[in-house]
Amino acid sequence: MPSMTKGRSFQRSGSIKVEVRVGELDIPDDLKHMSTPFSPRIAIIGGGPAGLVLVNVLARNNIAATLYERDAEFSSRAHLGGVLDLHPETGQAAMKGAGVWETFQKNSRPEGEETKILDKDGNVVYHHVPPADNTSPSRPEIDRSLLRKILVDAAPAGSIKFGHAFVSATPVTGTTQWELVFANGHKTVVDLVIGADGARSRVRLLVSDAAIRYVGLTGVEVSMSPDVGAAHKELLARIGSGSAYALDGPKFFAAQINGDGRVRTYAWFHSNDPDVVPSDPAAAIPFVLSHLEGWAPWMRQLIELADPQAVYHRPLYMLPVGHSWKHRAGVTLVGDAMNLMTPFAGQGANIAVWAALQLALKIIGVREGGGGLQEMDGAVAAYEQEIGKRAKEEATVTEVNLNIVLNGEGAKGMAEAFRLIEARTRSTAEV
Ligand SMILES: Cc1cc2nc3c(=O)[nH]c(=O)nc-3n(C[C@H](O)[C@H](O)[C@H](O)COP(=O)(O)OP(=O)(O)OC[C@H]3O[C@@H](n4cnc5c(N)ncnc54)[C@H](O)[C@@H]3O)c2cc1C
Repeated sequence: MPSMTKGRSFQRSGSIKVEVRVGELDIPDDLKHMSTPFSPRIAIIGGGPAGLVLVNVLARNNIAATLYERDAEFSSRAHLGGVLDLHPETGQAAMKGAGVWETFQKNSRPEGEETKILDKDGNVVYHHVPPADNTSPSRPEIDRSLLRKILVDAAPAGSIKFGHAFVSATPVTGTTQWELVFANGHKTVVDLVIGADGARSRVRLLVSDAAIRYVGLTGVEVSMSPDVGAAHKELLARIGSGSAYALDGPKFFAAQINGDGRVRTYAWFHSNDPDVVPSDPAAAIPFVLSHLEGWAPWMRQLIELADPQAVYHRPLYMLPVGHSWKHRAGVTLVGDAMNLMTPFAGQGANIAVWAALQLALKIIGVREGGGGLQEMDGAVAAYEQEIGKRAKEEATVTEVNLNIVLNGEGAKGMAEAFRLIEARTRSTAEV
């Protein structure tokens, strides 16, 4: 177990030299040999896309960090999560920064960018097919679980600790350090704790009293196993190579081809009660179908044929658009913990990994500039300002799309929004 106990001196603001006796320090095995003058103790809480990109970018730049994930092991949520399309200027930039670009390219599916928007009868009102010659910015799709695996495999041995659910953090008196406590009894003291712990972030409680808000749409994520999909090729043909979205009233249906052969389907509808869907899968499926009365038979069939072992409830929540907080030394947030938004503009993971890259670059910049902990704190505060602005822009676009669903503007309304996003992407790429 890579842990040790030692005392360290830090030169802090006002030139007061503080001698701190710290508790256990976790240093990944691969990074133990490094002894740079700038060696902050960094804990990342959460091993979603944001936390995993962060730990990789830091490690590639010889800055040790330990990532704590509450899942018992990598495979704890094997069938969960669909595909993510990573955008060139955000998601793909983060893959490059994390050193996994080539592996990402090998495992992603450019053809998965194909997108259809349909009405409930299956009439196509928008169809985007990625150009074969790559003349427009490509947004290849990758299975979420595969992306996670690539990033876990790339991280230094020992830098990711599964089975560590973060419980609380207490300031260490007279310092800006935090003592972290985990559900398994593990404790550690760090200079910086980064909350990459998603929508219901516990780290967020250290800096912000903002609460996530239920947006009024609930539903399920289901998936058809690959063998069932193979026996129903006509359903796959309806979807195409990527994703098909259907809207009617305040209802949103999404079906997507995954790289592992699963066909994943989401169905959301308006309800004041986020937990209205029965917890028993055998009851949940007919309940959801009752909200899709009169919808195209092939759409209903994607739900009827779902694997009962892989039915997940998906009520949708968001943080206030432009969520921000007064900077607090030694703690920050990244990804959904900072700016949870609904999935209707496909931006959450892209902004999450891009923010992780930016935060890592800020920390690396401190080391390169010969700075110490005080400078790191300033750099983290600057990160919060910059990412806050960018995340607000994407959350605003996402909220517009959410309102298209909630207001029942249907397939035509969403198609119009997609065309605007497409035009915006093109103009950004042309600059
Ligand atoms: C249905 C759906 C579809 C989506 N589609 C897209 C899309 O197409 N494109 C896109 O860009 N975005 C999409 N998103 C958004 C995207 O999933 C999120 O923005 C992204 O996963 C955020 O990454 P993250 O690392 O910040 O958080 P998460 O992915 O939520 O990861 C958080 C991690 O923290 C761990 N954790 C939580 N609490 C603790 C704790 N106390 N201690 C230790 N570990 C903890 C969790 O187990 C988890 O592994 C979608 C979201 C949903 C719900």
